[in-house]
Amino acid sequence: MPSTIRKESGRTRSASLPDPDKTRKSFTWKDAERLLDSLPGGGLNIAFEAVDRHVRAGYGGQTAIRWLGKGDAREEITYADLAARTSRFANLLMAHGLERGDSVFALMGRVPDLYVAALGTLKAGLVFTPLFSAFGPEPIRTRMEIGAAKVLVTTEALYRRKIAAWRDEIATLKLVLIVGEAAPEGCVVLGPAMAAASPEFEVAQTQPEDRALIHFTSGTTGKPKGAVHVHEAVVYHAISGRYALELVPGRVYWCTADPGWVTGTSYGIISPLVNRVTMIVDEAEFDLERWYETIKREKVEVWYSAPTAIRMMMRAGAEAAAPYDFSSLRFLASVGEPLNPEAVVWSNKVFGMPFHDNWWQTETGGIMIANLAAEDVHPGSMGKPMPGITAGILKRTESGVEELDTGQIGELALRPGWPSMMRTYLHEQARYEKCFVGGWYLTGDLAMRDPGGRFWFVGRADDLIKTSGHLVGPFEVESALIEHEAVAEAGVIGVPDETAGEVIKAYVTLTPGFEPCEELERAIRGHTRKTLGPAVAPREIVFRNTLPKTRSGKIMRRLLKARELGLPEGDISTLESDET
Ligand code: ATP
Ligand code: MG
Repeated sequence: MPSTIRKESGRTRSASLPDPDKTRKSFTWKDAERLLDSLPGGGLNIAFEAVDRHVRAGYGGQTAIRWLGKGDAREEITYADLAARTSRFANLLMAHGLERGDSVFALMGRVPDLYVAALGTLKAGLVFTPLFSAFGPEPIRTRMEIGAAKVLVTTEALYRRKIAAWRDEIATLKLVLIVGEAAPEGCVVLGPAMAAASPEFEVAQTQPEDRALIHFTSGTTGKPKGAVHVHEAVVYHAISGRYALELVPGRVYWCTADPGWVTGTSYGIISPLVNRVTMIVDEAEFDLERWYETIKREKVEVWYSAPTAIRMMMRAGAEAAAPYDFSSLRFLASVGEPLNPEAVVWSNKVFGMPFHDNWWQTETGGIMIANLAAEDVHPGSMGKPMPGITAGILKRTESGVEELDTGQIGELALRPGWPSMMRTYLHEQARYEKCFVGGWYLTGDLAMRDPGGRFWFVGRADDLIKTSGHLVGPFEVESALIEHEAVAEAGVIGVPDETAGEVIKAYVTLTPGFEPCEELERAIRGHTRKTLGPAVAPREIVFRNTLPKTRSGKIMRRLLKARELGLPEGDISTLESDET
């Protein structure tokens, strides 16, 4: 296990939360509300908190979004611009007779109009759902059906390729807004319609419990669920961004997640703007040199990314990072998948500070467990519960649940009551209710708490492997595998076996310069036997060019397993690469 990364006292003092344990004890939700204004005349509205109130307070001239287009295009959007554009969008929705609670879907890449549509929808009191532009027609259609879409905002190309053929079959759909020059029949071009709309709009008097966002989960374990979130979530977005991501007004912040999944909205739109930072939005996909160059050129201070990207950086080596100046960086964070200890140690070496892992889900709406700036980092740990959050490790029993002691593996659970918790799964109330047992919300993830109160991720409950009497989480085995210099990424599953119950099988991708061969397989297996012991080391290792992943960057172990066993693949609507 790599050693603890200690924080210097200077860094601890300048953290947003200099003494986290003290705050954990004294925290009340009133402390979070202090970061917000409420709507003039009462009520609470995410878009007002994110945009308009900053303009009222005199910050209209600050850049809210610095957009970097795929080529060299750039656009600076100030808070005042964003207020005006979102008002125009809200007016446009009203002019088409849309009403409070109606559902607006967006399907497009990371372009400014996506951000305008999200916030304009919320301003008007409608409900916003972002979709990945790379989804195929079927996943788009089913989600629009489940969400009873009334409006779709998309581009001409995406419309023609993915929507036109079935558009008329979505009975609820009233309006299709097209980003671009020309609109296909039955659609409205957004640009001129926005220009004709007024830049003044009185923000809808939404109440904290009014619906604001519907996010579909990543589909890692099965069919995606539609998690319903309300305007009150902004209370948590504000405080968690400040405490867990160091989002301080005026800072330059880059969240690399796409708004098509919850991180890209909670921490890629709402939390940063509520905390009045300047957000970098990069339209392009991952490209190592472009990313390093962006940090240097834009003087990024806070960077929120994901293990899959960090592993790609590692794969390219420290040499690839050496020519760049990273002195602007002050805080790095990661979410979405377990962050291997190796990646934490590597980032500390290359960037002069570690990536801080944090844990949450679409359902929780915000970061629940985190490594905070003032705290030492124990590589491999997700950190401690955020102020206001109580987490426990539970065992399900016949009569309910039982809390487990430190050091024991069980299901990660949270005490309900924080503002950004989902309010239901869309049209699946019974499934939602099943998540709550004995006063806890059960997350479906397995974890362990150490004596210091830190939480360690073990695996998804569905991914747990039972081999020769041992319970093994794939994360542990994957982390041991990527410690080997030849291994870039690993996905581990259990394969049924007569004597052992299950045996461990690993799928790995290789670092450039290594070729698949028997000798290498033996060497990697030897390494895992040494670090994990023979019972937990993979019995078999197979080499792959890529691993199947969701569009939010998660390894789909259930798909590796289904393919291994020749079982039905299940819902693969969020699958990104498909070479396995
Ligand atoms: P579905 O619920 O449809 O299977 P999903 O759970 O992948 O999809 P998300 O809500 O996007 O959908 O992902 C949340 C899950 O991601 C968590 O429950 C956890 O399994 C995993 N996760 C997120 N952050 C971390 C982390 N820091 N360490 C380990 N796992 C994480
Ligand atoms: Mg999930």
